[in-house]
Amino acid sequence: CGFASKNEQQLINERQTLLSENLSLAYRTPLKIVRGKSVYLYSESGERYLDMVNNVCHVGHCHPHVVSAGQKQMTLLNTNTRYLHDNIIQFAKKLTATMPAKLSVCMFVNSGSEANELAIRLARAHTQRKAMVVVEGAYHGNSNACIDISPYKFDGPGGNGAPDWVKQTIVPDPYYGRYQGSDEKIGEQYALDVQRVVNEFAAENNPVAAFICESIQGVGGQIVHPQGYLQQVYRIIRQAGGVCIADEVQVGMGRVGTHWWAFQTQAVIPDIVTIGKPIGNGHPLAAVVTTSEIARSFVSGMEYFNTFGGNPVSCAIGLAVMEVIENEKLMANALSVGDYLKQGLKALGEKFSIIGDVRGTGLFIGAEFVIDRKTKAPAAEQLAYVIEEMKACGILLSTEGPRHNVLKIKPPMVFSRDDAEHFLLTLAEVLSKL
Ligand code: PMP
Repeated sequence: CGFASKNEQQLINERQTLLSENLSLAYRTPLKIVRGKSVYLYSESGERYLDMVNNVCHVGHCHPHVVSAGQKQMTLLNTNTRYLHDNIIQFAKKLTATMPAKLSVCMFVNSGSEANELAIRLARAHTQRKAMVVVEGAYHGNSNACIDISPYKFDGPGGNGAPDWVKQTIVPDPYYGRYQGSDEKIGEQYALDVQRVVNEFAAENNPVAAFICESIQGVGGQIVHPQGYLQQVYRIIRQAGGVCIADEVQVGMGRVGTHWWAFQTQAVIPDIVTIGKPIGNGHPLAAVVTTSEIARSFVSGMEYFNTFGGNPVSCAIGLAVMEVIENEKLMANALSVGDYLKQGLKALGEKFSIIGDVRGTGLFIGAEFVIDRKTKAPAAEQLAYVIEEMKACGILLSTEGPRHNVLKIKPPMVFSRDDAEHFLLTLAEVLSKL
């Protein structure tokens, strides 16, 4: 399975002419996936892959409850949001019920980028300011403003650097960062850097409007913030008159196991929460949840309209996703299987020194691959080899982080202990061949 078939090669060629050439594909030899079920993806030629990296199909590929909720509503009505409908209200009630009480107003959109774009507008409307603090290495979406707040993009290939309304704070990375460790003291030291950025903005007469950060950093390298980091940062931002945005596009919807939202693991309450990928189980659905005060600031004369956001089908699907999470106790599953995976990876780390660090919460896990544990030199090439070998063994994984050396694990929430065991045994075999 290391070569593209004739048909696959033709699709690759046609993508290059019919689609934008920089539309990203996974794997050296791209896969042609034609069917998905639960934690499995099936290629056209009939190979079955264990999907360990898909945080979009959150409750499992093509979950029957979600599929039938969408089908049922599609036979009745799908239209824009200018009519009264029960689904949007039911969904907003169910979603806000999972949040701290002050996060009480929902706005439905169609992608994580759109959610963050709207969050920026809300923050600007509320503060009447523009300046934003972002974390090094972060990614928040593909629109113009989202690229402007994504160092991963504006400092990466083809990027043009930060605009004058955006400044970066250092990444609070307990493994590679300026301060190493995860305790409260370290959290405080990193938060001081946010104070530095806030002060810089103030000195430029450009006071801060908002801080945006993933509650656990995904694109930045599966980084779990040091204790108290977000608490300290939120305090600093609010003191300066800004608002705090939690990007839960990757880590929300119960993935962390202990809570619905990853910000709850840091004991903070954001002013604006953005939700994407998992909320629609693959259907393009996303949301912004905010306080009534911020929502009121946005109602400043200009009408807000979103053609597709919150349509009856999307809301039926979103509701069904939440029902599956509850009915199948998927948060408890994420916690127990996630712990089992982490323990297993740590045990492998005792045998294979290339695994330098294992971290994460629930089914959001990262393993740092290093050539040498003392120097922490990243083992990016070796990890790329491992990912390809695992694929050849029928397991889909991917890399993450600025050094491309973090093994990223975020499977559908129905990932079982047996799946975890199969993964650990296969990984041990692949590592022993390195
Ligand atoms: N925020 C984060 C943290 C993300 O990972 C992504 C997508 N990778 C986005 C926002 C943008 O979401 P979308 O691709 O749905 O626009």
